Amino acid sequence: MSDKITTQVVVLGSGPGGYSAAFRAADLGLDVVLIERYSTLGGVCLNVGCIPSKALLHMTKHIEEAQHLAEEGIEFGEPKIDLDKLRKHKEKVVGQLTGGLGQMSKMRKVKVVNGYGKFTGSNTIKVEGDDGETEVKFDNAIIAAGSQAIKLPFIPHDDDRVWDSTDALELKEIPKKMLLLGGGIIALEMGQVYASLGSKVDVVEMTDQLVPPADADIIKNFNKQIKGRFENIMLNTKATNVEAKKDGVYVTFEGDKAPKDPVKYDAVLVAVGRAPNGNKIDADKAGVNVDDRGFIKVDSQMRTNVDHIFAIGDVVGQPMLAHKAVHESHVAAEVISGKKHFFEPKVIPSIMYTNPEVAWAGVTEKEAKEQGIEYDAVTFPWSASGRAIASNAQQGMTKLIFDKNNRIIGGSMCGTNAGELLGEVCLAIEMGCDAEDIALTVHAHPTLHESVGLAAEIQEGAITDMP
Ligand code: FAD
Repeated sequence: MSDKITTQVVVLGSGPGGYSAAFRAADLGLDVVLIERYSTLGGVCLNVGCIPSKALLHMTKHIEEAQHLAEEGIEFGEPKIDLDKLRKHKEKVVGQLTGGLGQMSKMRKVKVVNGYGKFTGSNTIKVEGDDGETEVKFDNAIIAAGSQAIKLPFIPHDDDRVWDSTDALELKEIPKKMLLLGGGIIALEMGQVYASLGSKVDVVEMTDQLVPPADADIIKNFNKQIKGRFENIMLNTKATNVEAKKDGVYVTFEGDKAPKDPVKYDAVLVAVGRAPNGNKIDADKAGVNVDDRGFIKVDSQMRTNVDHIFAIGDVVGQPMLAHKAVHESHVAAEVISGKKHFFEPKVIPSIMYTNPEVAWAGVTEKEAKEQGIEYDAVTFPWSASGRAIASNAQQGMTKLIFDKNNRIIGGSMCGTNAGELLGEVCLAIEMGCDAEDIALTVHAHPTLHESVGLAAEIQEGAITDMP
């Protein structure tokens, strides 16, 4: 069967960037077609990224917390893990959200076309679906094709014990011994899930710290708090060979902490970054420039080098985060509808949703040094917070960075709910607050967000006797 559709706006890809662009464009009165290769909307984030990983982290966090409570007088029995139930719970969460997107598309009369879309010209996309081909003729296009996990040439990715994050989220089994190949956010989140479920987990990271973009003191604090979670953290070390044998996956290492002989694992999670999908959509047929890595360059209105074609989300560059994609999507849809809108946030927050969470926004201290920015860094240790002590979160820390005019330009935290607390820091930076603005804001007591106000008070010189 072959079909032809004409539309004012076509959106290619239905991740957070794509569905948000489609909804905003439809809300602005435009006629919209949304193309998605998979049967559910929501892209990586809802189906195999942000949401299922957070569902699993939420469930497994309680295992660690129960172990801790035993030290304080509330003892539970050994946890009994029912992987099927856990998987079903995760699928229910995902289904609720992706199903909601389907309904929201219908309500807005966004036409969803299922199948793989590729440009065939500057105003046409051909979609190959299970039910045949559809040609979509468009006035404007928004490319939201996202990204996929990077594969390394020396790794046998087709072996079913060699996982990417999507495989890890499937929860097929709890491997006895597992390697996280890469020490970034995705690896450490999944590593926490499997360690809580009982796997013995090693980590190999080629740089000198876990989560390389975060500040060293924040990660030092994180390492202290997760002591014992991982069996062996190998920094400044590379995996140089991965061999799948009958009895296990053997990994050879090179570097500071490299074991002499190959180590046998039951599963290896490869999480070494994500590559954009820009060169898989025949963008050249529409005249859109794509770089060698697959990124599509856009201006601050999310416009590509072709006037009526826009691109958003992971496919346009770092940071590859859902909230960045959503904000970019609104800009693209609004510009198409004739509004003058630009994507120019001061900060895009980064959060690792482990226990404890690590969160940062704006300039890190590391970046301030590299960029030669005159700055003050102040740290508020949560050991001085009543709420933190009462909640067994006293090991955490809040750090704020101020420029030479005492204006806040960055903030990092490690601790319970750090990702939630970071919202205040983001707003303060966007609003151009200085230390006094933050210090004079009445923060409720006892809360963890008091730590932001108290860090600003330290900067103001109002507190001088920190432990
Ligand atoms: P995607 O979500 O990648 O969506 C692109 C969509 O386009 C996909 O559905 C794909 O099937 C479709 N598509 C691509 N090409 C075609 C084509 N030719 N035809 C039809 N359809 C096509 N980010 C956060 O902000 N917070 C988190 O907590 C977080 N956790 C994550 C955890 C994991 C395990 C992973 C892998 C990622 C995580 N991310 C997180 C990153 C986040 O998922 C991405 O930044 C976000 O999904 C990008 O949105 P997008 O719209 O650009 O693309």
